[in-house]
Amino acid sequence: MSDTAKSKTYWGKGVAEGDPFALPKRVSRGVSAASRGADADAPSVRYLWIFVTEEGLQRRCEPRQTADWLGADEWLNVVDESSALGAEWMVIYAGAALARCPEVWALCEWAQQQHQLRVGIHLAGATLAPEDVERLTALDASLTFLIADEAVLESLASLQASGIGLCRANVREDERHSDCGNPKDIVCVGIDGHLFTCGLVLGDEHYRLGSVLKRGLSAVMQDKSLPHAVPDAGDYPTHGCDGCPSHVAYRAVHVLPR
Ligand code: SF4
Repeated sequence: MSDTAKSKTYWGKGVAEGDPFALPKRVSRGVSAASRGADADAPSVRYLWIFVTEEGLQRRCEPRQTADWLGADEWLNVVDESSALGAEWMVIYAGAALARCPEVWALCEWAQQQHQLRVGIHLAGATLAPEDVERLTALDASLTFLIADEAVLESLASLQASGIGLCRANVREDERHSDCGNPKDIVCVGIDGHLFTCGLVLGDEHYRLGSVLKRGLSAVMQDKSLPHAVPDAGDYPTHGCDGCPSHVAYRAVHVLPR
């Protein structure tokens, strides 16, 4: 997205004006961890991957009307339900510069404070505005990672002094699988609440799994009639796997010093 492109986000619908960072006081509608443990058939996921601006869906299809975008409270439900299914990571692709969707930070705080999720923020551009740095460093550094193109990682290295982890977004050709089974561990949600098999196929009708507004995540991830793998991943653009949580999490744990 260019700097002059529209920058509306879902947040305008759901967060109280004047205090966009306030966390709504709410109760999760999701399954509880306890009930998941009691249900042997309940699916288990490891990663929540969310695309919170319209640019994500523009990768493969026309953007939806802004009226269809998820509100803040609906996004928080997605976080709650994913955590109840076992998610340990949340990766956010904001699309636009973070300065133009500042309420992302409220979602990060919720994920960390309520669920102790590791949070990866996929930076679409090359720089962070001063207010973004302030928000980023206010998060729990031990649970916070900035994900960026390898070409700009070095320019962000100073953030490591604050304990923020840096992680390469790029998934290189030799790291990709033409038949990828990783999506079984991933809940991937677009700006309008539609679930897709993973970010590579975001917006592709063949890989649409339903809407978080119509069906619980547990039922969707448990539904074996839906595609929870991408057998033709090699047919998609080579950069399409960038930011994939399964790769980010591996690197964060096995490669990067904190
Ligand atoms: S984005 Fe790529 S690596 Fe990640 S689950 Fe999808 S196909 Fe697999």
